[in-house]
Amino acid sequence: MEQPGVGRINSNENENASEKKKMSEEFESNTIMESLIDMPLATLDIKEEFGITDVAHKNKESSKGNEQVRKDKRKKRKKKDYQPNYFLSIPITNKEITTGIKKLQNAIIEQDKRLAKTMSRDGSFHITLLVMQLLNEDEVNIGIDTLLELKPLIEEILQGKHLTLPFQGVDTFESQVGFVKLEEGDHIKQLLEIAEVAKRTFQEKGILAGEDRSYNPHLTFMKLSKASWLRKKGVKKINPKLYEKFINHRFGEEMVYRIDLCSMLKEKQSNGYYHCDSSVVIGDKNGSEPDDAELVRLSKRLVENAVLKAVQQYLEETQNKNKPGDGNSVKTEEADRNGTENNIRK
Ligand code: C5P
Repeated sequence: MEQPGVGRINSNENENASEKKKMSEEFESNTIMESLIDMPLATLDIKEEFGITDVAHKNKESSKGNEQVRKDKRKKRKKKDYQPNYFLSIPITNKEITTGIKKLQNAIIEQDKRLAKTMSRDGSFHITLLVMQLLNEDEVNIGIDTLLELKPLIEEILQGKHLTLPFQGVDTFESQVGFVKLEEGDHIKQLLEIAEVAKRTFQEKGILAGEDRSYNPHLTFMKLSKASWLRKKGVKKINPKLYEKFINHRFGEEMVYRIDLCSMLKEKQSNGYYHCDSSVVIGDKNGSEPDDAELVRLSKRLVENAVLKAVQQYLEETQNKNKPGDGNSVKTEEADRNGTENNIRK
């Protein structure tokens, strides 16, 4: 998911980049510029909807253990600091579709070899449902929880039916991003509804999410910004002639079975797909097993909650036992400090 985005990173770029680096040192610090090439979106000018006024991102926030305080702080960030780095992805894996896209890409490359570098790679095909900003592990964990909460809301929209997405034809965004289109039909209405619920659900958790343009589901297969040096060689637009043979081509149907929470910046998986922190399976009404990622996240969360409870209980008991003046007050403070540290998520 790269973007005309890179082109749109403006004079605030360096300033924002260094601020963000500070905010998330251990987080996606390497290969940032390299990875920007594969981001779905560039700097976004998100309008007033977040009411953002300040940046405050310190890991210590998590030690407060106060969800509301953290939510408020996230909401207070300046809108200029909104730079999506995560997205909800519907993976496109139907071989008929991916084979058709590869034929389309090859047909374009045959006409202009230089465009090979602009092609989305096999394995990375997806539909973006929502973009968002998750700046540290604490926020990623909120994102993971929120995706789990989103699952039944999506299933409610689908009312027990599968969502099938038929792809036909090709178009571009501003002659910069080439994508395979969705056929007209009720599935678009459902997808828009799902995207809207997703945006609302994530925003309610205090996550900066969404864009200032309306949602337009699409399956990207090329982006000129992946090879920005081509501009200097005079390749500034995707010429419609390049894809004219595919203008009404039917690429096939994808049944939506999974939604992933993916990083735009982290190194991609060996299969070409984005790094995912979590996934939910959609429409597993027949009691099929949740997928491995979901199970791992759920069990991690259960263990964390249990440890947190135990630490809190221990602290309460220690504090009650060791009143000041009984010779144990130093130990109590130490235990308190340790407890506070334990509250910080890894
Ligand atoms: O979501 P995906 O990765 O397929 O997006 C590819 C590119 O299309 C991104 O760079 C995004 O900024 C761009 N885009 C656009 N107009 C839209 C939606 C996406 O230019 N309405």
